[in-house]
Amino acid sequence: MNLDLDKIKAFKELLAEPKRVVILSHTNPDGDAIGSSLALSQVLQKQGHTVNCILPNRFPYYLKWMPCSDQLIIHAQDKLGITESVIAAAEVVICADMSSLARLESLTEIIATNTTAKRVLIDHHLNPSSEFDLVFSFPESSSTAYLVYEILKAAYGCQVLDQTIASLLYVGMITDTGNFAFSNINPDLFRAAADLLETGIDVPEIYNKVYNSFTEGRARLFGYVINRKMKTLLKGTVAYMSLTEDEMRRFWFQQGDSEGFVNYPLSIKKVKMSAMFSEQQGGFIRVSLRSHGNVDVNTFARRYFNGGGHHNAAGGKSFMTMEQTIAHYIASVEEYHNEGLV
Ligand code: 5GP
Ligand code: MN
Repeated sequence: MNLDLDKIKAFKELLAEPKRVVILSHTNPDGDAIGSSLALSQVLQKQGHTVNCILPNRFPYYLKWMPCSDQLIIHAQDKLGITESVIAAAEVVICADMSSLARLESLTEIIATNTTAKRVLIDHHLNPSSEFDLVFSFPESSSTAYLVYEILKAAYGCQVLDQTIASLLYVGMITDTGNFAFSNINPDLFRAAADLLETGIDVPEIYNKVYNSFTEGRARLFGYVINRKMKTLLKGTVAYMSLTEDEMRRFWFQQGDSEGFVNYPLSIKKVKMSAMFSEQQGGFIRVSLRSHGNVDVNTFARRYFNGGGHHNAAGGKSFMTMEQTIAHYIASVEEYHNEGLV
């Protein structure tokens, strides 16, 4: 990875003295958002900084085992206004695994108005916004966790990695690469993983905690969605699924239960693009998109669902009804197809 050494120097200078640091990550946080935030937090705390990690909303129950996750402040559940006061007191704000403040949703306004702290971006999404003072933006990096690893190594050397930090970074790396199987991997990532393994992390145990720790309700919901709700378009090459709040209740839904469902249609040989529409509290529909090869769902999400993400994994939102959202998707896929893009 081609890290700009002047930026590493600026990062070290910014954090040369103990500071009050806030680390933020995106709404609907995943293993990479949490792993990279907490790993950074651990390193900075060890160096004497006062660090608070804040997330806009809850993270999935099956990631609660992650070391130090009890330190995460969840803004949506913060009735005491801790988020506001911590942000107001911050001298440095680091945004990890998100490309714009808009992805903080309920926190966006607070960051825009409550603080004059220096803003650092550490991220691997496309199209980073210009709201930051120091930017580490590497869309070619498979995860933010890998980028954090490279920054920490360049700034402080591999000796800052202990087993806790390595476990956190490893979770970020596997969750954003399908356990090192997606096309975003490269030899450097495996070398980084090797450094993490040197600390003695238990890889099979981490794998089981991340991938084999769901509820029975989730397994049954998954069966229902694939069997009853998966539809295909364009001769079976494009798939989509939907999930209403009513259906979620029928399967004792817990937040995070439908994560990963959108990937499954891509295991069908012909399918090159997949979408999942899920109703959310707050009256909108979350749109998740995945693709194979040169089908660009980042552009699709930006163009049709006011979203973004990566080339093969992106998301957005719809404020229409489920029927209208699906009709809009079908028409959009048609248009994309007519332009030769899917
Ligand atoms: P997921 O489908 O897992 O929610 O999201 C897939 C990818 O798209 C993630 O990298 C996520 O950050 C990005 N993404 C999801 N929703 C949005 C959105 O509303 N706006 C933008 N810009 N990116 C999104
Ligand atoms: Mn990520």
